[in-house]
Amino acid sequence: MAYIKVKELLRHATDHHYGVAAINVFSYESACWAVRAAEQEHVPIIIQLYPGFDPHIACRHVASFALDMAEKASVPVAVHLDHSASYEIAVAGIRDGFPSVMIDGSSLPFDENVAVTRKTIEVARIFGVDVEAELGHVGSGSRAEDITDTSKYTSIEEAVEFVRQTGCDSLAVAVGNAHGVYVQVPHLDLDRIKALRAALDIPLVLHGCSDIPDESIQASVNLGMSKFNIATEIDRAFYQSVRRTINMEEEKGSLFRLMNEIEAPVTEFIRGKLRLLNPNRYRV
Ligand SMILES: [Zn+2]
Repeated sequence: MAYIKVKELLRHATDHHYGVAAINVFSYESACWAVRAAEQEHVPIIIQLYPGFDPHIACRHVASFALDMAEKASVPVAVHLDHSASYEIAVAGIRDGFPSVMIDGSSLPFDENVAVTRKTIEVARIFGVDVEAELGHVGSGSRAEDITDTSKYTSIEEAVEFVRQTGCDSLAVAVGNAHGVYVQVPHLDLDRIKALRAALDIPLVLHGCSDIPDESIQASVNLGMSKFNIATEIDRAFYQSVRRTINMEEEKGSLFRLMNEIEAPVTEFIRGKLRLLNPNRYRV
């Protein structure tokens, strides 16, 4: 139980037909409550950090407390560094203690993406760290063309070649998904997910899972997608819980009390996501 490697967890998820929520955390509470939600649902979970948050909360601090939470958890918990936009950021994440990192070379030409992914994996292997890569470009949900432009979607032939040349442990794919708030409802290319699953023997990752319709998420799980990155909706669940709970008339309010009061609604929101990703009701 407790701490598990991302690679091992995703393989287990693939074999047992459930999706793993990779919750983007931004504070001690967000990590702690994600782990509690997983314990209450009796399913594994991934705690991950976007390295761009480093000025707000140091990557090494998050690696440290997330790993500590994982070791003490009653369910398998993995820890991962999300979107490293460069080799340097990915290697800094390894230095900071992340047992799994993403190297995102997806905005580069194919050969350069292969090169930066291989270079990152060379270092990662020395430290026994897992590496997620990305092929096809997952853009921003704020731009309609990033959602609908199929030329940015992951090509099956290129994906096979990319995995062969890099040896990455998991692959983030572009199949109609995008980051942040969507300007229009995204429609996942389920046929492409099915084809990618059939063509590759490593776990697949879906970024930008916030606000994708539930039916599409569950269909993706049933087609063998394994890791589901959720950031925007978690941040929003915190915001909405604070908004519903805070008493604007109270001048001598307590932030500590407020945080305690929003734990239940935020945790319940995460539990809902865990249930959504577990249509076949796997339990630890
Ligand atoms: Zn992403």
